[in-house]
Amino acid sequence: MARILLTGGAGFIGSHTAVALLGRGHDVVLADNFSNASRSVPARLKDITGVDCPVHEVDIRNTQAMQAVLAGGAFDAVIHFAALKAVGESEANPLLYFDVNVAGTLSLLTAMRHAGIGRIVFSSSATVYGAPEHCPIAEAAPLHATNIYGRTKLIMEDMIGDLVRTGMLSTAFLLRYFNPVGAHPSGLIGEDPRGVPANLMPYLCQVAAGQRDCLTVFGDDYPTPDGTGVRDYLHVMDLAEAHCAAVEVALGTYGTHAVNLGTGTGYSVLDLLHTFERATGLAIPYRIGPRRPGDAPSCYADPTLAKAMLGWTAKRTLHDMCQDSWHWQSLSAKARQAAEHGGSQAPTTAGAQLLA
Ligand code: UDP
Repeated sequence: MARILLTGGAGFIGSHTAVALLGRGHDVVLADNFSNASRSVPARLKDITGVDCPVHEVDIRNTQAMQAVLAGGAFDAVIHFAALKAVGESEANPLLYFDVNVAGTLSLLTAMRHAGIGRIVFSSSATVYGAPEHCPIAEAAPLHATNIYGRTKLIMEDMIGDLVRTGMLSTAFLLRYFNPVGAHPSGLIGEDPRGVPANLMPYLCQVAAGQRDCLTVFGDDYPTPDGTGVRDYLHVMDLAEAHCAAVEVALGTYGTHAVNLGTGTGYSVLDLLHTFERATGLAIPYRIGPRRPGDAPSCYADPTLAKAMLGWTAKRTLHDMCQDSWHWQSLSAKARQAAEHGGSQAPTTAGAQLLA
């Protein structure tokens, strides 16, 4: 059993990882500034796991506060999720992204050094491969940032790798996520994007819930089987279990290891849409729109190294991902409407119709 600090532990991937770690008997402490996470998450984690995790409301950029959290904790490792993640926002406000992601990571690493903690599992992204030349993508593929968000992930990977090389850290796993979707099957935690969702699954869920009229498919003229973009969607609980494996392996190993986390299978936008319809019984209105600038036609992982190093492979299907995303979305839409209408209204499905 290990004692682990999760920065960004109340966020989408952090909260699911907390559930998985607690399920394996680890001791988990959350640190989050709640800038993009609900304050109800710790209570929901308790409902799911029966465990009351300690929570520190703290910004990773506050080095002194992070030192205080780490100094008293006797932590074996840190899993570092806390970061901003919206590509468009990163291009509009690069300084903010350098500050939160890069300076925030520097601050965390400084606090870790102060506390003598040498093991980190880092939340990286397949975005570090830029526009990939070949699929499936292995870890040795060229690295390339196509936007500020991706640039910050590359800088953070480099910083952590340099600290391992120079001996300040003993072990780092740089986990490069493909497309995390889904939610815990309880429907109590899930992804809750602020504003208009930029990503496909949350947008699809909001159309299904009647919060948006119609999904726009960004291009149907790509060189893919049906012309729409292909991605490697990964259930967030599979991703959470990969973090458990990484932290457990990290406790007994040294060095920096970049590892892809994906299923290894690509699905198109229309594959996902039709699987969602089958999983939910709802017909999703959609229209074909122009390509989104900067989108790659296809992006899916070679997950061989994850299996070899972590003994991990994704188990859950695209159908599971859709079912669990919708379960979370419909429960949270119900809760939102109950709050707005004093509990008397059922959720609307203005954007979606029941399948015949
Ligand atoms: N996509 C889409 N409509 C949307 C959002 C996304 O057609 O409203 C497409 C997008 O072009 C890509 C796929 O869905 O082919 C996944 O997009 P997402 O933003 O979720 O992930 P990323 O492109 O960052 O891998």
